[in-house]
Amino acid sequence: MRAKKVMVIGGGLAGSEAAHQIASRGTEVILFEMRPQALTPAHKTGVLAELVCSNSLKSDDPLTASGLLKRELEMLGSLVLKAARKTAIPGGSALTVDRRLFSQEVTRSLKQNQRVRVLTEEVKKLPSQRPLVIATGPLTSEALSEELQMLLGDESLYFYDAIAPIVSYESIDLEHAFWASRYGKGGDDYLNCPLSKEEYEIFYQALVEADPLPLHSFEEPSFFEGCQPIEELARKGKKTLLYGPMKPVGLVDPRTGRRPYAVVQLRKENAEGTMLNMVGFQTRLKYPDQKRVFSLIPALRRAEFLRYGSMHRNTYINSPRHLMPTLQWRRDPEVLFAGQITGVEGYLESCAAGLVAGLNAWRITKEMPPVYPPATTMIGALLRYITMASAANFQPMNANLGILPPLPVEASGEDRKRLLTERALNHLRSWKDKVFSN
Ligand SMILES: Cc1cc2nc3c(=O)[nH]c(=O)nc-3n(C[C@H](O)[C@H](O)[C@H](O)COP(=O)(O)OP(=O)(O)OC[C@H]3O[C@@H](n4cnc5c(N)ncnc54)[C@H](O)[C@@H]3O)c2cc1C
Repeated sequence: MRAKKVMVIGGGLAGSEAAHQIASRGTEVILFEMRPQALTPAHKTGVLAELVCSNSLKSDDPLTASGLLKRELEMLGSLVLKAARKTAIPGGSALTVDRRLFSQEVTRSLKQNQRVRVLTEEVKKLPSQRPLVIATGPLTSEALSEELQMLLGDESLYFYDAIAPIVSYESIDLEHAFWASRYGKGGDDYLNCPLSKEEYEIFYQALVEADPLPLHSFEEPSFFEGCQPIEELARKGKKTLLYGPMKPVGLVDPRTGRRPYAVVQLRKENAEGTMLNMVGFQTRLKYPDQKRVFSLIPALRRAEFLRYGSMHRNTYINSPRHLMPTLQWRRDPEVLFAGQITGVEGYLESCAAGLVAGLNAWRITKEMPPVYPPATTMIGALLRYITMASAANFQPMNANLGILPPLPVEASGEDRKRLLTERALNHLRSWKDKVFSN
């Protein structure tokens, strides 16, 4: 006989959403949340679904990736999104919430549900209960992190992220770029963006003068040792980057027949080659500064930044190695991971992972096969990305239109956005009709 209960560890955005998805289908949930008995370095309250930083859930424009994600979550009956709409305050084109009312609303809804039992307890070891959803977030407690590190292996649990920006291929000025690998080894694996001495000097000056984000009190600079932000490297000396991430050795610019003065290398981020990662450009600069400074690289003058760089404290697992797109752990498929710990990045991305993990934990209790939305939807594309990206270079990913498969027709600008978002919602609707009917 199947277990009638599901255990969820972590009552943040993902765990709360997972608990709602399970309980709303009639199955009992035990939700473990350690706060307020034990706090994380960023959480300050004992309520569920606390927003640790900004109270903005990003753009609500239906033609943006964040706007699409919101509509998909709404279509699938997300508690978090419903609470956000209910507690929204004016925020321009962004969905902005009253943080206190938002968390209270999620907490009230779950605590009122007779099928949800919230226990204030830090889980230090993985319980034997199955199905089990682990949603302990980017600040997973030390004891559980140690347990996960032991279970997953040293190479599979990270404690901070060092993310380089990603630009869309179609926005790169190919007149100022060329495909090649250093010394011709490895084929045309990199798209190289050369800079002359004058261009480098302008770029360098803007980089060292740009504004980094302040560190949180619990983020020591020494935390990031061994993986320095590009702006910190630049501050060591005017030529440091020329011997590091911008070194031109082994490359010949076909336009001049000579070695460029400096080079930024872009590496394909997905199989379709629609997204390119700026190699070695992990950064803590503010987003507007990233756009302004990196757009001084001639090939990136009109670049569309699909993901900005960031470096912060973040516990996440090597999902391509350990998880299926259904968010089941390969080694023990009745254990599911959800939220930021899977390598999705952002409040609503975490909620989306919680929604799918909750749905699948419930399906396991009913002996139904776990599922995930089509790749053409934002949620499906995110899950595929985090579980199928290269395990060797795995970095967290936020919702962006670049992770969606290309359209079967030529389209650009607003037309492309409209076609991508319409396709996503149509495919999600058909998927939902099929999956939610049984
Ligand atoms: C400092 C910081 C600022 C961020 N700012 C933003 C932002 O402005 N915008 C944005 O979109 N994203 C932001 N993020 C990223 C991310 O979207 C959020 O962290 C988001 O809350 C992740 O959702 P989650 O459910 O995975 O984790 P959380 O919301 O952190 O939930 C995890 C829960 O698990 C609990 N827990 C941890 N360990 C245990 C344990 N062993 N036993 C029981 N309970 C446990 C925690 O107390 C917490 O309530 C930020 C991340 C950090 C670390």
